Order: sequence, then structure tokens, then C-alpha cells
Amino acid sequence: MSGPTRDTVAPPTGDMSAAEFRRFGHEIVDWIANYFEHIEELPVLAQIEPGDLKAQLPASPPEAGEPMATILADVDRLIVPALTHWSHPSFFAYFATSTSAPGIFGELLSAAFDVKSMLWRTSPASTELEEVTLDWLRQMLGLDAGMSGFIYDTASVSSMHAIAAAREGVELRIREEGMSGRKDLPLLRVYASEQAHSSIDKGIITLGLRQRSLRKIPTDKEFRMDAKALADAIDEDKRNRILPFCVVATVGTTSTSSIDPVPAIVEICEQHKLWLHVDAAYGGALLFGNRFRDKLRGVEAADSLSIDFHKLLWQPIPCSAFLLRDARHFDTIKLHADYLNPENHEDEGIPNLVTTSLLTSRRFDALKLWISFQALGRAKLAAMIDCTIELATHAAEVIRNSPRLELVCAPELSTVIFRFVPSHAEIDANRLNAALRQHLFDHGIAVIGHTRVHNRQCLKLTLMNPTVREEQIQLLLRTVADHGEQMERDWSAV
Ligand code: PLP
Repeated sequence: MSGPTRDTVAPPTGDMSAAEFRRFGHEIVDWIANYFEHIEELPVLAQIEPGDLKAQLPASPPEAGEPMATILADVDRLIVPALTHWSHPSFFAYFATSTSAPGIFGELLSAAFDVKSMLWRTSPASTELEEVTLDWLRQMLGLDAGMSGFIYDTASVSSMHAIAAAREGVELRIREEGMSGRKDLPLLRVYASEQAHSSIDKGIITLGLRQRSLRKIPTDKEFRMDAKALADAIDEDKRNRILPFCVVATVGTTSTSSIDPVPAIVEICEQHKLWLHVDAAYGGALLFGNRFRDKLRGVEAADSLSIDFHKLLWQPIPCSAFLLRDARHFDTIKLHADYLNPENHEDEGIPNLVTTSLLTSRRFDALKLWISFQALGRAKLAAMIDCTIELATHAAEVIRNSPRLELVCAPELSTVIFRFVPSHAEIDANRLNAALRQHLFDHGIAVIGHTRVHNRQCLKLTLMNPTVREEQIQLLLRTVADHGEQMERDWSAV
């Protein structure tokens, strides 16, 4: 077998000379700076049809490498037109997150270090930065000392870990005995509102709990969990020998950004000794500042919390925090392996993240977080978050003042739900709003979201990019109203 020779292997990374590394590294950073400077000039939506990119790429892998300059030219020629630009000021769909310069630098450096942060010994900086950044987070959010956790890739993983930890609280020895084939287990129950994110359902399925284990609690007219309905559901389940063990409250739901009434839910959880997981993937950011933190009252009592840095906190994906109130619950999945973290080799008090986290190899995401926290500081982050909420408030005001638009939900966070209101009763408003959104896509005007509220098709703006200006929002909403009127005229004429 022939391995790499001295001719083919060049420093510094074994695949490229130092001179080339510098040249292309600088070129790429310049390229990125230009990308952001000119992003507004790019069409926000990918300019291709399904399959177009694949058709332009060779069907089989290259046998010999190509020059880096050719590959970078291909990024411009092939990849950029196939991108929908999430950091574009006309991108308002899903969680319209934009990244941040410190976050990008952190990604670059962590790719260079490429440490796999499972053991302290293999990655002291990563292990300790993860502890420090999460503790800084805890302090910035005003949470109790002692809350600690992990940086995971996504809130989906955090919520699954939270439900697994909660399940151990029922003392049915599920860790040791499992669930399959056991006749002694009652139906275990988790409660979440009918607006909770699908990752809660998926966590339940993955954990081997039956889908029936998740009871969806109705919401009030503002899409917040109905606390009275929760209390009634728990009582009813107990009467039917179903075993409640966990409630998931959402602060910032995906569809409308509603915030569950956490203080009332905390009371119910305390009364029934249930674990409270707060899915703060989206809304947790409000705790960074003082202006809106009252909306999240009660969150500090959670047993566990997930919060995404790749949503309102401008980190390049992935980056999500999982915090547990009582570190003893990390034992839920605590394991030692002879080849990795043998029990008797573990130094007293030295944390090996692999022992209690779901992941073995883990990214050095704490680096980008640490760089971002240092570069921006809590105050700037809080101001950026406030700014997105002000943009949403402004958008809502513009919609309220527009005779052709209806504000469907007042924004709790940075999400605005609205619709175009046809003036002719015979026009199907649902169809028209769906077509209107498509029209904005087709004409490259903007990428906006959609959702159904009370069975009505709605348009949705998520205003998470702090570089967006109020004038851009006004222009977009005027364009939506104008195009809606035009479409209505066209449809009426048919
Ligand atoms: N929870 C809420 C409220 C969400 O809106 C989302 C994602 O959109 C998630 C959880 C899942 O987040 P992630 O993509 O980080 O798994």
C-alpha cells in the first residue's frame, strides 16, 4: 500500500503548502467580506430549478485533485446561484437568522484546531470554554447558580435529552430495565401545547415512549398553553392511572412566537412534582436584556432549558445550549468506556464531557460563542435582540395602518403574522395569500414565511436580521399590498 509521499504532502495541513494556504485563506476572507458588502445585490432566492445544480456537477468523483483557484471559481459559478441567502435583508422566512462576524471567525478557528472535545485531556480549552461560556450565559440570563449543561448542535437534541432526564425521575428503572417487554409500566405522559415544536414529538418517539405519551394541551386565543386545560389533563390522566412526568413549555413558538404562561405552569408542575422543560430555542434570547425579560417570567424555575444560539443569537449553525438545574440528572446517561473514559482513570473533579453528554466527539462550538460574547458583550447582544423586536413592532404598526392587510397576531417576539384581505367575498383568501407568497418568490422580491392560523392561510415575517431597516419593511409591505390588489383584479377579471 502506498501512502502519501513527501512530494504530495506539503505543510501546513499536509495537503496544501503554507504559501497557498495563506493565499487562498486571504482570498476566501476577502470573498466573504465582499459577499456581505454586496449581498443586497444578489437575488435572495436561489435562481435554479430542482436538479439544476446536480446536472452541472460530474456524476462521479474526481480521481485527481483540481487547483484551488478552479474550485473557488466553481463556488461563484455553481454554488452561489444555488443559494438562498439567509443573511439577505429580503429574507424573512423560517427563523431568518443572519450570522455574525465573531461567529464566523470562531468557526474558522475551530475548524483549524479541529479538536474533538470529548475528554478534558484531549481538549482542555474546549471543555473549559464550554463550561465558562455556559456559565456566562446562565448569568446573562439571570438563572440560578448551579445550572449547567452542554453545548449541543440543536434544540431538538437538547429537548430529547431533557425528556430522557425527566423520565428517570419516575423511578421505574428505565435506564437499567428499558421499556420494551415490560408489563409493569403505565403509560407515561408528557404535556406540551398544541403549538409545541415537532422536535418534542420526535424526541418522544426516539426515546421509545409511545406517541400517545405526548398529550397536546389546547391553547388560548393567543396560542399560549391553556394552564387550566393542563391542570385538568393531569388530573384526568392520574384518575386513569396514566403517569405524568414532564411538561414542556414553549417560550416563542415556531408558528406564531406565542409564549406559554410559565408561572402558572410552574405552579402546576410543583403541585404534581413534574419536570418542567422550557423550550426557549427561539424566545430565550429575551432574557439577555431588561426590556422584554418580563415576558419570560417563571423560566428561571425550569428543571431544564434549551436555547438556540443559531436563532436570535447570531451564531453560525450549529450552536445550542442545554441547561439542567440539578447536575445529578446528568447521571441519566452517564457511562464509562474502557477505551475512552474508564471509570477508574477519571481524575477527580476533572470534567470529561463525553461521560454525561449524548455526544462523543463534539465540536469546539464554545470558541465561537466565547469570541462572540467577548466581541459583542451582553449589552450589544441585548440591543440587537431589542432591535429585532422593535422591527417586528414597527412592521405590525405598518400592517395595522394598511387598509388591505390584516395583522393576525401581534408580535410577541420578532415574528409578524398577517394576511392580505381581498375586498371581494368570492375570492378565496387562503388561495390568494398562498399565491401572493409564491408571487414574491417568483419575482425575487422577498422570501417570506407562511403559517396557518385558525385554519386561515397567513403570511409571516420573521425579523431576526438586525441590519434590516424600517424603510425596507415598509417597502415590502406596500409591495405585498400592491401585488395583492393586482392579483385580486386579475382573478376577478377571469
Ligand atoms: N423549538 C422551537 C420553538 C423551534 O422553533 C425550533 C426550530 O425551529 C426547535 C425547537 C428546533 O430547533 P433546532 O432546529 O435547533 O433543533
